[in-house]
Amino acid sequence: MRLWLTPKLSYRIKGNYVEVLGGYRLRIVGWDRRYDQYPNGEARLMYKDGKFLLMIFKRVPRTSKYTPKGVLAVDVNEKEIVFGNGVVRERRETAIERALHYKKLAEKLQQKYSFSKYNAWRRRKGILRRIGHFHRKACNIIEDWAKKTSLEIAELAKRHQHAIAREDLTGLIEKLRELPGDHKVALLILSYRKLAFWIDWQCEKLGVPIIPVEPEHTSSICPNCSSRLKGNGYRRLKCPRCGLVEDRDRIAVLNIEKRGLELLNLSGGSLTAPTAPQMTDVTPNRCGEPSRPSGRGGGQFQ
Ligand SMILES: [Zn+2]
Repeated sequence: MRLWLTPKLSYRIKGNYVEVLGGYRLRIVGWDRRYDQYPNGEARLMYKDGKFLLMIFKRVPRTSKYTPKGVLAVDVNEKEIVFGNGVVRERRETAIERALHYKKLAEKLQQKYSFSKYNAWRRRKGILRRIGHFHRKACNIIEDWAKKTSLEIAELAKRHQHAIAREDLTGLIEKLRELPGDHKVALLILSYRKLAFWIDWQCEKLGVPIIPVEPEHTSSICPNCSSRLKGNGYRRLKCPRCGLVEDRDRIAVLNIEKRGLELLNLSGGSLTAPTAPQMTDVTPNRCGEPSRPSGRGGGQFQ
């Protein structure tokens, strides 16, 4: 069951109760108090697993962004997410393996109850529920990981007053979609999508400028002289021209940082204030309206 509700007209909050048009009263069990100071907008009432859930839209003013003093680059691969620049470098494992564990449990259970004549697992509610539980668990692991990791990255950038440069992952996701779909590929796609989303979200929340950069060749050209790098042992690369030897992830981070700095015009030593429109393609920052509310349009909340 889903119901759209308009504030004051079809629902209102009164003390510990939500009153819904038609004389229904629902006791509030709990809610996220962090947004209490913002007025209530439209709401959606849902009934799920024996509970009513009321989702209220809020208009929260956008945090204005600072002028970055440098760039924190983010590079992702299947196993790790590496973030840093010429000075710092951090790495965190992805949650793929942990999530994969639950996908495999779901699959095992499904196979165990699948027979050629009829699929018993389909008919048994309990088993179906457990299979669903494992799939959801896998997705939640990825979501939690993306949320947590992106917050850590955004907070680090804010501490140093840096902008975040992240690769535009769209092309990578498209390429993954062409592969034969298995659980691992699906989890990779989910991870990249969630990570991109949550990095942008955390940056928006904390006022960290974000710069999407072209992902091409970030781990195959020299960050010093742009020559094509040659393999030099396990995950290590060497520049035939300037002699730079570094591991693949380090190279990627340096290249992404370099591209970010170029886009910010910081590389030439002149601290030009970045112009907003080229810095983000996700949430266009309107010039002259730094604290424009981020909610949906219209003035129905006044
Ligand atoms: Zn070089």
